Amino acid sequence: MSDCFILLSAGKSKRFKSNLNKQFISYKNKPLFEHSLKVALDSNLFKKILIVSNKKIKKKYPKNIKVIKGGDERHLSTKNALYYLKKKKIKNVFIHDAARPNISIKLLKKLKQELKKNNAVVPYLNSENSVKYKDKNKVKNLKRDKVLLTQTPQCFNFKELIDLYKTNKEKITDEASLYLNNNRKIKFILGEKKNIKITTVDDFNYLKSETYYGIGFDVHKLVKNKKLYLGGIHIPFHSGLKGHSDGDVILHSIIDGLLGAIRKSDIGTLFPSNSSKFKNIRSKNMLVPVLKLLNDNNFSINNIDINLICENPKVTIIRNKIIKSLSKLLSINKNLINLKGKTVEKLGIIGKEQAIACEVICSLSR
Ligand code: ZN
Repeated sequence: MSDCFILLSAGKSKRFKSNLNKQFISYKNKPLFEHSLKVALDSNLFKKILIVSNKKIKKKYPKNIKVIKGGDERHLSTKNALYYLKKKKIKNVFIHDAARPNISIKLLKKLKQELKKNNAVVPYLNSENSVKYKDKNKVKNLKRDKVLLTQTPQCFNFKELIDLYKTNKEKITDEASLYLNNNRKIKFILGEKKNIKITTVDDFNYLKSETYYGIGFDVHKLVKNKKLYLGGIHIPFHSGLKGHSDGDVILHSIIDGLLGAIRKSDIGTLFPSNSSKFKNIRSKNMLVPVLKLLNDNNFSINNIDINLICENPKVTIIRNKIIKSLSKLLSINKNLINLKGKTVEKLGIIGKEQAIACEVICSLSR
């Protein structure tokens, strides 16, 4: 006797409003249904896994995974799966909606543990919102802590569930409803918040969060009688960086990296060097419209890694000061910024302390 994981992937996605069937839409680089499939496989809890789908799946899976056809409604898909398993010596079934891609092995193990003492185990969450109930145009209050929001996988003794299905005539939305309709006992255990169900395109966009990268590079000549600015602060040094602005190579590289990640061309396009408007501008002021662009387009910074390429000043001495300044200018935690120093073995004009270069990579999320 073994356990079977039934992955329901045959829904019509009526509320999803996309041409694609939602279970097959690409989420974090693979079809949505394959996420829970992988968790079920990795858990090693199941001798058999059934994918119930109305769309042909061409991919070859390991032998313990079978694909069968679903029904027109969710409960009919479950019924197909249970009837398919009739003679396969199954003890328990875990029935899971493919639209919940973030199940965990931890939850599967908890459910399995509870099945030792119970015939039906269902995960739930309490409602965090106040709940009202509408009954014939009259809206009533419900006590929030008495409301159970049921999730999947819902787990059952196979024999008991198939017997209930055989006599069921109603259109049920989950197996827990079938149990309750028949006055059967269910053990409810706390589910996981991240085990969220993707119902609409909005849910999907909210969950998928995209990552982008941008690269920046800059070099300026060092000249006498100019102040040196790096990362937005003044660094005492024998020379300063020559440029249309204050020549801050770190900030210029960061600006280019950020613009690269959000695909808005480069610093020269935003601040043309032939415009007198930007003459002698402090580079930290150039950062302001760039950060606004990020904010307006819902980007946030994951991390920034910087290589400062110079013989002197020594990065070990100025590192903490620069990171502190950048953290303030970018409004991000210091832990998200890394600054490395790189000398060039005294080669070329950088080696002769006549120029400083910088390269940066920025990672952003949307
Ligand atoms: Zn520059």
